Amino acid sequence: MARRMGARGGTLALCLALALSLLGGCARQEEKSQRQLFAMDTVMTLTLYGEGDTRGAEEILDGSVQQIQWLEDFWSAVRPEGDVARVNAAGGAETEVAAPTASLLRQSLELCAVTGGALDITAYPAVKAWGFIDQEYRVPSQAELAELAGRIDYRQVSVDEGTRDGETVYTVTLPAGMELDLGAVAKGRTADLLAESLAADGVSSALLDLGQSTIRAVGEKPDGSPWRIAVQDPAGTGYLGVLELADLAVGTSGGYQRYFEQDGVTYWHILDPDTAAPARSGLAAVTVVSPSALTCDALSTALFVLGLEEGVQLWRDHPELEFQALFITDEGELYLTQGLEDAFSLTEGYEDREVTVLS
Ligand code: AMP
Ligand code: MG
Repeated sequence: MARRMGARGGTLALCLALALSLLGGCARQEEKSQRQLFAMDTVMTLTLYGEGDTRGAEEILDGSVQQIQWLEDFWSAVRPEGDVARVNAAGGAETEVAAPTASLLRQSLELCAVTGGALDITAYPAVKAWGFIDQEYRVPSQAELAELAGRIDYRQVSVDEGTRDGETVYTVTLPAGMELDLGAVAKGRTADLLAESLAADGVSSALLDLGQSTIRAVGEKPDGSPWRIAVQDPAGTGYLGVLELADLAVGTSGGYQRYFEQDGVTYWHILDPDTAAPARSGLAAVTVVSPSALTCDALSTALFVLGLEEGVQLWRDHPELEFQALFITDEGELYLTQGLEDAFSLTEGYEDREVTVLS
């Protein structure tokens, strides 16, 4: 029997991130408005400082919550009316989708390609088979895994566009038996779209914490100092470090975020598309920092699958992706790409951890 384990640490992480974000004084006093909601399978906290140009903070936050719910309807594989669920139920037929879905799919497919398929948005049949959707956890047999791996291939997804009555119409086709899962990218794209909306409203300081470690910082803290984002110790309940940053996004993927145990073995939710089994690359967690939350979300998942060596190679080969990364190995060693050297510091109790800076 599989022992059920829930996601842990998310709420604590976000409390600490917020607590830390408030440290450091408040030279310019701005009123803080906050909204917490459960969406996309996680607790989200939206914090806004000051008001918008034309609307008050509460009204802007109402809009953000609606935007999240609207996007969740489109992108959740378990909302039957949504774009993703309709594509998955289409049995190979062409399915019309909304423009934001087509755009997310196209960008995600590019990221699948650039990661050599370590990110693969067609992992849904395997994710379901392990029980990560209905929480009926089980370990599929080798034969089942081989069959599931054969049904994971982002290259089979096609996104097309045409016109109808002068309007652009987007359609998605994927072979029968294959299914989309945007779980590795949807929160990132949502954070980017929320940040765009806040900017359009003239909000200059906000922290969007979309839970399961997708955070998008809008501007700086009201006192002009950077946000302080806590990085969880994947092997414990503490926070091993802090990232100081402004106007950037942070995404973390780790085996500790969602997992179950059976017969003394831990199985987590990030799968290696080649084997359809939990990715065991020697990494316990990866944190990615980038101007794009989508990049953070997609690449944190992909780098977790790739492991340290191939992950670092991806960073070196693709400066155009504009990301930095913090790799934490199963042994607790920390590897930091050069661009994070000044932004990252170890917290109390972790000062003796060795940090290797990668160039
Ligand atoms: P994240 O928490 O962003 O790392 O994304 C993990 C989620 O994406 C899982 O819960 C699955 O729904 C899905 N997933 C698992 N493995 C992969 C993969 N290799 N590529 C894309 N999505 C995946
Ligand atoms: Mg991700």
